Amino acid sequence: MDSDVRFDTRAVHGGMESIREAGGHVPPIDLSTTSSLAGVASGGDSYENLASGGILGTDDSPVYQRLWNDGVARFERSLAGLEGAESAVAFSTGMAALTAILTAVVSAGRSHVVALRPLYGGTDHVLDSGMLGTRVSWATPDSIAEIVTSETALIVCETPANPTLDIVDIADVAKRAGDVPVLVDNTFATPVLQRPLEFGATLVLHSATKFLGGHGDVMGGVVAGPEDWMRRLRHVRALTGALLHPSAAYLLQRGLRTLPVRVRAQQETTRALAHSLRDHPAVATIRYPGLATGSIAETVSRQMTGPGSLFALELTGGFAAASRFVDAVRIACHAVSLGGIDSLVQHPASLTHRPVAAEAKPGEGIVRVSVGLEDARDLEQDLLQALDQAMG
Ligand SMILES: *Cc1c(COP(=O)(O)O)cnc(C)c1O
Repeated sequence: MDSDVRFDTRAVHGGMESIREAGGHVPPIDLSTTSSLAGVASGGDSYENLASGGILGTDDSPVYQRLWNDGVARFERSLAGLEGAESAVAFSTGMAALTAILTAVVSAGRSHVVALRPLYGGTDHVLDSGMLGTRVSWATPDSIAEIVTSETALIVCETPANPTLDIVDIADVAKRAGDVPVLVDNTFATPVLQRPLEFGATLVLHSATKFLGGHGDVMGGVVAGPEDWMRRLRHVRALTGALLHPSAAYLLQRGLRTLPVRVRAQQETTRALAHSLRDHPAVATIRYPGLATGSIAETVSRQMTGPGSLFALELTGGFAAASRFVDAVRIACHAVSLGGIDSLVQHPASLTHRPVAAEAKPGEGIVRVSVGLEDARDLEQDLLQALDQAMG
């Protein structure tokens, strides 16, 4: 959809023009794993173009689903449009997307990654283990300049960060990074609330499994950024095969169409909840960008258009209280994942952040809450009674 229409209109109509022109209304799902080829020479040319990361030209055949699928490409263009990126590349999961980025930098001959904690547990684990051939240095924004070397391939950060909603000043990190590309995991904010490329990030990553899909029924990952990077990532995807399934692309495309309304409605409930839960005696601290003060509040208002629908509660009763809390919720569900239409609570130290090194692990008294689309009054009642029970 043309960039002359506003964000919500692009979310609804992005990628749909060609379908309307063809007399349709919603995207078709092409499940073909292979395509009939006009001839050996043209098939070979298409193969070479796509397998090396090119995009489908007008005379090209898709050849094979691992190389190209129109529905996947439609979702990628739509997401790129929302992030203000030149293009995007989709993968089977968020972790597959991160893996492709790390594979691309290592295969280009640089393996040093500078990363800012906290991060999603899986991201922390893959970087800390060095499994993909990268070597990580953990940094704070202040130490980036002294830790970056000529070998540094990438700076990785997340804001708001999983699970404690820590805020990173994207423009500040981009400035300190100099020429080193900055990757921002934008899963928690979504492009509705934050567009990291506008603040100097090079690459934006999403676990599309979360808000983009939004209904807890599809896994996916996507990276948005400049076309030269996206070409490298398509090359990696073509060779390593972590592609997004066409049915998953359909669901993610549909998810984008309601993303702005879901994100804002979930956020509105969360704002109210954060205020009513903060004074409960079981709560030592509530971590929510909407309740930040001082320089963090300034950063939030500069780079985000709203505080989102996730918060973390630090309970005064530690692990025992957290355990009673997750057992006591009735409307919210005790489950990992986030960003869907139903509310989820989980204990990061035991679950999503279990593999994280002791010095960076979230506290035992912290529970993370992802707020869904239920009536705010029902959720408030549910979480307040769970907090009562957390007191023991
Ligand atoms: C869930 C998550 C991931 C990993 O995504 P998957 O789709 O589960 O592979 C990465 N980053 C963040 C912030 C997440 O919440």
